[in-house]
Amino acid sequence: MDSDEIAKRASLLQEKCGIFACIANGNYPTSLDVAHIVCLGLIGLQHRGQEAAGIVTSTTVETELVAHRGTGLLSQIFNEAAIKSLKGNLGIGHTRYSTMGGIDLQLAQPYVVHTSYGTLSVAHNGELVNSKKLRKKILESGVGLSTGSDSELITQCLSLPPPNEFRIKSAEIIKKNKSNQTINEETNGNNEHQNGLTPESAKKEPERKHSRYNLSGDADEEILSRLLHLMSLTPLSYSLILMYQGNLYAIRDPFGNRPLTCGMLIPPPAEGGPRASCENLAIEGWVVSSESCSFPSVCAKIYRDLEPGEILKISKNELPRTLTIVERPQGATLPAFCIFEYVYFARPDSLLEGQAVYSVRMKCGKQLAIEAPIHLSSPEMASKVIVAPIPETSIPATLGFAEQSKYSYVEVFSKNRYVGRTFIQPSTRLRRLGVAKKFGPLSQNFEGKIIILVEDSIVRGTTIGQLVKLLKEAGALEVHIRVASPPLHYPCYMGINIPTKEELIANHLNNNQLAKSLGANSLVYLSLEGLKKTVQSDIREKQKKMNINKPIGHCVACLNGEYPVDLQF
Ligand code: SF4
Repeated sequence: MDSDEIAKRASLLQEKCGIFACIANGNYPTSLDVAHIVCLGLIGLQHRGQEAAGIVTSTTVETELVAHRGTGLLSQIFNEAAIKSLKGNLGIGHTRYSTMGGIDLQLAQPYVVHTSYGTLSVAHNGELVNSKKLRKKILESGVGLSTGSDSELITQCLSLPPPNEFRIKSAEIIKKNKSNQTINEETNGNNEHQNGLTPESAKKEPERKHSRYNLSGDADEEILSRLLHLMSLTPLSYSLILMYQGNLYAIRDPFGNRPLTCGMLIPPPAEGGPRASCENLAIEGWVVSSESCSFPSVCAKIYRDLEPGEILKISKNELPRTLTIVERPQGATLPAFCIFEYVYFARPDSLLEGQAVYSVRMKCGKQLAIEAPIHLSSPEMASKVIVAPIPETSIPATLGFAEQSKYSYVEVFSKNRYVGRTFIQPSTRLRRLGVAKKFGPLSQNFEGKIIILVEDSIVRGTTIGQLVKLLKEAGALEVHIRVASPPLHYPCYMGINIPTKEELIANHLNNNQLAKSLGANSLVYLSLEGLKKTVQSDIREKQKKMNINKPIGHCVACLNGEYPVDLQF
């Protein structure tokens, strides 16, 4: 994604964070360049936050944590010297978008906290729906807070001594896990060799009922009791990565609102040719990431997504282990994974819930073509119709629309990739030029044509109005806007920066009014049912084929106002 694309996202909808972690297998000190891997992983997640970033590494001795944080893009924060200073066998990283008070280095993560049970480092993606109430609770417990950040709240919750019930629960879970392991070893023989992990053997792991468990009981019991306590205090939204006593812990809230996926690091192919198969290569380490798009750059393969509510422990030379899965609060039967990850936030080359974001976006375009064809004044006019994207995020949806409608896909804009963040304060004259700075009309492609202009979402409607004007001035006969997602009506309180209700254009104008105000001939959004069907049908199909019956659910609160839980302010 170029800087212009990043700037466009920053000015509209904005994901708040991306998190990444790595732990090396083998003997320590590792020869794996952990800090470099985490940095590359974060670069793959740069679209999820561009204001600040940080990496914390550990040699496994808890006091030996090294941190480097800064403001700006990854490339501005991490140079060769910074990466070299981050020695360690495991590390976690965070890239952040600032939502309040501008850019503040104090808010850059991962956080490192020294607690009564040791030092831990935490990276968080999401936003706590009950943060105000929780903040009050923490302050009343006598703990001071130095920032307004939800992530600091999380670290303070993890520092609080958990009530006894969570200690008891944690001890029971650890005991059960150990006894399950004993059963497994007695039944199958203890034949899981520490250094014999391969993608092939790892794939079989979910089939085993009770597999090997890392027996570091006390540390697990301690951290688990605190995580269970934290998860009882706040229902969502959080995907977390923790580094504690030489292990990684990855956690997803019980609604699975933000994504989190685990991958296996394999040796890169030898120079000069593709690898035939990697199934029997040794797994060099494990990674955890907000999105799988960051895996190819570090030579990682997807292991699996974390389940909603899962607490996953990742230790060296072991398969990742589910410590427990925390249930959703009573009455909440369905998970609530953010549907806007598919529409807009996630990179198109990521896999979410087992499906490629690119292909879901394409299918949204197809569904939109079914739901919202344009009406022509005569059948002969069909030869004049073309379907065009607004580069670049709407390209997959436009391709889908074109395929379904049988109209030609034609590019109508050439985009200047170098107008971006450096162009912050244009003079009044230049400001008046608006999007013309970024988009040059390819008029020879569309003069005298009827353009179906596909956009992935409309927030305030300012950019698209200027684009319609550009097209019409350059010779378009008609411009019909089709939006590959439903209208945005409500703010998000779960980690996405959506403008206020007043700023959302769909709260002021219906389709016809909006089309008129933008100078378009018509405007139609994808229906909410159409979006849900498109996102969920393949997941359902896959489950059916695999004989699985897991609940499928997505958060659509910004579209219909139905939040996964009652909001507590
Ligand atoms: S409210 Fe919208 S943006 Fe926020 S989590 Fe739900 S679907 Fe995603």
